[in-house]
Amino acid sequence: MAAIPQISTVGEFLAHALALEREAGERYRELADLMDAESNARVAEFFRRMAALEDEHHGRLGERCAGHAPAAIEPWDYRWRDPEGPGAPGELVERPMTAHHALAIALANEQRALDFFREVAATAQPPEVRALAAEFAAEEVAHVDFVLARIARENDPARGT
Ligand code: ZN
Repeated sequence: MAAIPQISTVGEFLAHALALEREAGERYRELADLMDAESNARVAEFFRRMAALEDEHHGRLGERCAGHAPAAIEPWDYRWRDPEGPGAPGELVERPMTAHHALAIALANEQRALDFFREVAATAQPPEVRALAAEFAAEEVAHVDFVLARIARENDPARGT
């Protein structure tokens, strides 16, 4: 990914994290639509649940940073990437798309989000920003785990839905 931007205020953290969560919600809805196109209602439903989680996370960010306005920084051009595809960042339009491929995209980008929050938690000043980032990193760990669990079920249909 592009170098993780320097974060030195809560407002800057908020601006970057909001962009990251918004992209995740939008991408999950896009992947859900792609899975509908494949008549894969089960994985489409999983992506819609993940979109709802990201939206909720996005909403909670604002509350956790109450009193801080998102910094008016140069927009961070954060876009999901397809780890298997040559497409430009932000292009997830391959059709048809298998569930395996869609889940690989989700996993790679949840991992990127986790890396972002961990990096900020480890390096940012001031400590208030580190603490916020650590909190959000913990939630991204959960998202990574949800995607891994979904992949495991797809790989082993005997385990059911
Ligand atoms: Zn996430």
